[in-house]
Amino acid sequence: MNNRDDDIIVLKDLSKIYGNGVEVRALDGVSVRIKAGEFVAIVGPSGSGKSTLLNMIGLLDTPSSGHIFLKGIDVSRASPDERARLRNQELGFVFQYHHLIPEFTAVENVMMPMLIANKSKTEAHKRGEELLRAVGLGDRLHSRPNQLSGGQNQRVAVARALANNPSIVIGDELTGNLDTKSSELIYNLLRELNQKINQTFILVTHDMTLAEKTDRILRIVDGKIVCEMRRKDDGFVASDLCEMGEDDGNVNQISREN
Ligand code: ADP
Ligand code: MG
Repeated sequence: MNNRDDDIIVLKDLSKIYGNGVEVRALDGVSVRIKAGEFVAIVGPSGSGKSTLLNMIGLLDTPSSGHIFLKGIDVSRASPDERARLRNQELGFVFQYHHLIPEFTAVENVMMPMLIANKSKTEAHKRGEELLRAVGLGDRLHSRPNQLSGGQNQRVAVARALANNPSIVIGDELTGNLDTKSSELIYNLLRELNQKINQTFILVTHDMTLAEKTDRILRIVDGKIVCEMRRKDDGFVASDLCEMGEDDGNVNQISREN
């Protein structure tokens, strides 16, 4: 598998084994290429390795074997400093549990990655305000996480992930706590950025309504990608390796590639 110019992320035979004694093979030989500007959903049962996979792509954890290429560069074993720099400048991460700083207000939380990237306080504040307005929290700039609901904090986390205009945004159940209306607002915002500035989105989700709005669905079971579906016209086309299960979502929209 060779790298191609428009691949932004390439995973080659990536495995992650946890534990000493009892081994857990959280990822088992995952190979996938993601192009710049793709909008990808990752689905699969609980414990199948979705978060582990995102943590690898987000450079938060290192693989046991295999390689991760980011813009053609092998970052699997980059130094901690280089990984931190790439996380700050190339990647935006929305965690399952927001990880907002409790002492900071919403706007201060969103400003953080920009201040780390040496933007001025004025500039960071201005963009922080804009982003919070875009996620529907223009009136909660100065609220702290404990003064906001789970869904509101999740939206602050989305704004923070977008702060430095990262080329790749990774989300772990990013709409998990959101009501339908907020979920649509966030999806529309991400899709707009995706189309306007070609940002790449990789979202783990349980929400098949969201997954079916993306362009490509990867299904992971027991640490392996067992199915891949691509948008074609109004539905999805499943690749040959897919075994149709009951929980594959809206099977009516999915046809097989021949
Ligand atoms: P998912 O996000 O799909 O629910 P995870 O990636 O969190 O799945 O976990 C995949 C497997 O790896 C599970 O069996 C889980 O228990 C195990 N696992 C995840 N993180 C750790 C860890 N830090 N130490 C040991 N096992 C882990
Ligand atoms: Mg998870």
